[in-house]
Order: sequence, then C-alpha cells, then structure tokens
Amino acid sequence: MLRAGVRHLDAVILTHEHNDHMIGVDDVRPFNFKQKEEIPVYATERVQKDLRLRFEYVFSEKKYPGAPSLGLRTISKDESFEIKGLKFTPIEVIHGNLPVLGFRIEDFTYITDARTIAPEEMAKIEGSKILILNALHYYEHYSHLNVPQALDVIEKLKPEQAFLTHVSHHMGLAAEINKILPTNVKLAYDQQLIEL
Ligand SMILES: [Zn+2]
Ligand SMILES: [Zn+2]
Repeated sequence: MLRAGVRHLDAVILTHEHNDHMIGVDDVRPFNFKQKEEIPVYATERVQKDLRLRFEYVFSEKKYPGAPSLGLRTISKDESFEIKGLKFTPIEVIHGNLPVLGFRIEDFTYITDARTIAPEEMAKIEGSKILILNALHYYEHYSHLNVPQALDVIEKLKPEQAFLTHVSHHMGLAAEINKILPTNVKLAYDQQLIEL
C-alpha cells in the first residue's frame, strides 16, 4: 500500500477466510487513523465468523484504543452489492471443498482461489473483458487450478485479456512463462495497476 501510494481506502472485500487473504486486516489501522472513520469490510457470514475468531481484539467489547475499526457488511453469493456506485457480483468458485467468492465488477472479473467453477457461475463471468484467474503452477493441486486448467477456463470464457494470479514460486520465471502463454494471457505481477 505504501509503494502503491494508496491514500484512501473505501472498503475491504474478503473472498474467503484463508490466512493469505485475511491476515493483513490489522494494517487497516493507518487508514482508520487518517480517515477518522471505520472501514467497511464485505464478507459472507461464514467468513465473518472466522474473522471475529482470528481478530478477536478487533471486535471485543473493551477495545484497545487504536485497534482496527471495521464495519462488517454481510454479503451472500446470490446477491450483487454496490460500493461507491460500483456493482459487485459475487461468483462462487470451489476451492478444494470450500466454496469461496470471486467478484465481477462490470466487465472485469477477479478470481483468486478456484479449483472448479460450476456452469451457472461461469455464465456470470461470460462477457468479461478482463479476467484475473488463479493458476498456481503446472502441477496438479487439490484446491487450485494449474496453468493448463486455468487456460481451459480462459478458452471457454474468451476474455480480451486474462492475468494469472496466486502464482507459486514453482511456476518458473515470468519472462519465460509469458512467452509460452496464449497472446491474451499473462502472469500478473506485484503492483500491477489495471484501470477500469
Ligand atoms: Zn484459500
Ligand atoms: Zn489463497
């Protein structure tokens, strides 16, 4: 956030409760200090339950002054919601045996932790111009798409541009992998900016 020069945080949207997607919650504090307001956090009830357990001090009755100030907003897989005039449509994908959420925002779709995507959820993604999709590496994995599987999904959806994210260090080097990916697919990278 420092490197990217982010000065303001409108909201946090949680895809699921795994630590790699949630452990940064304490770092919302500086935005509370600066903005002098609570930051809305959008999550399903299941994810909120886990958030409350893992960050008990954030939600405790006798809160330490300076602890993060978060305003929980309940979302569900079947209902779109709006933040600052932008419509977010949840996409449910299966991550091992855990249903988790991705999101479509107009013609941009962001999915970080899919292993399988049901046909009715695929239909919600159809027509996206930019698709962010997880691909761990080239090996088989029980809860993540690998590169060939992610390319299958991309081939079905035909976005103008797809970026692979949630990449393992077993992927290989971006300079080499990008050469063998289809022309509309690239590995995403840290600090990448996508203008919507
Ligand atoms: Zn996960
Ligand atoms: Zn993850």
